[in-house]
Amino acid sequence: MKQKSIPLGTIAGIPIGIDYSWFFIIAFLTWTLATSYFPHLYRDWSAVEYWMSGFFSALALFASVLLHELGHSWTAKHFKIKVQEIQLHLFGGLSRIEKEPDTAQAALLIPLVGPLVSLFLAGLFFLVSFWVKDAELPFALCQYLVSMNLILGLFNLVPGYPLDGGKVLMATLWFFSKNRRNAVLVSASFGGFFAYVFIAAGGYLLINGNLVTGLWVAFIGWILLNASGKQIKTERLKEAVNGHTVAEAMGKNYLLIESETKLATLFEEKLLSAEHRLMVVEKGSEAIGFLDQNLIEKFPQEKRSEITVEELMLPFSYLPKLQEDADLWSAIEVFEQNKINGLPVMQGDHFQGILTRGDIAIFLRKSQSRLNRLLGRP
Ligand SMILES: [Zn+2]
Repeated sequence: MKQKSIPLGTIAGIPIGIDYSWFFIIAFLTWTLATSYFPHLYRDWSAVEYWMSGFFSALALFASVLLHELGHSWTAKHFKIKVQEIQLHLFGGLSRIEKEPDTAQAALLIPLVGPLVSLFLAGLFFLVSFWVKDAELPFALCQYLVSMNLILGLFNLVPGYPLDGGKVLMATLWFFSKNRRNAVLVSASFGGFFAYVFIAAGGYLLINGNLVTGLWVAFIGWILLNASGKQIKTERLKEAVNGHTVAEAMGKNYLLIESETKLATLFEEKLLSAEHRLMVVEKGSEAIGFLDQNLIEKFPQEKRSEITVEELMLPFSYLPKLQEDADLWSAIEVFEQNKINGLPVMQGDHFQGILTRGDIAIFLRKSQSRLNRLLGRP
């Protein structure tokens, strides 16, 4: 799913965007730094000094996050993988790369370089802090950046998917076992394990009165748990459709209707039925769009005689098209990118049918029971 972000510009051809949640975290960080973190360390600063240091530290932290993400993105570009965007948000940053790396080497280096950049920055700010040790404000800023970059580097190296360390683990297992699927499943299971560790640690902090940090850590654990669970599901799904084509899953259970047909006619001639939930609209002998029965039934009754199926349909010209012989997994990816229920299937330029999410679910159920029969499971 692609979320809208505010464009900030491009660095080396990579668009940088900010999610709205980023403003919240910058304000929150500035506030905690200015009212709690710095006042605990330095007692005699003025209010302006606390707030300025808080604000610049928060910005510098996100500049560090950005460099971490640029580490991932530049490595991806090195392996000829396109980077769609680097997004800064509530939890740091995210590099959206176009596709999963297809070699173990790229799969290892792309996640590894980010945490290495963070650890390098921690070392760099450590050195700079010696240089500015007589000036209190810059020294405090450097110290903060040393600890935050250290945390950023080490946290991301935790070996559980979807963290960078989990991806490194996956690539390493993939390289040695030559089995990508098992490598993904193992690293995602580790991800689940560490997610529970984070949730438990968050709970522990919460009980001991550390409300904000406790909630934060537990919430990160919960996000990791979801992401690792989703990865396992995706991998199982990929396995189930492996070697199958769009044509095998495509349902042919639709009704052909002439484009000029009024909605009211569909009801008068009793063309709507439970078995034909989908209608394909034809103009001449060409299929031009499709309609779901739900949409027709929801349309206000008194206006049904004024509108034709063509006016209500979803035109094929607006939709991505699937080829009949394409593999089913690629079709599922198209469904994931487009929040849509059905897509036209073609053979060259010729319309063959509609593949719906329901068709894929039915196909999966059937292939699962076929598999169970083969394995002698009940
Ligand atoms: Zn990273």
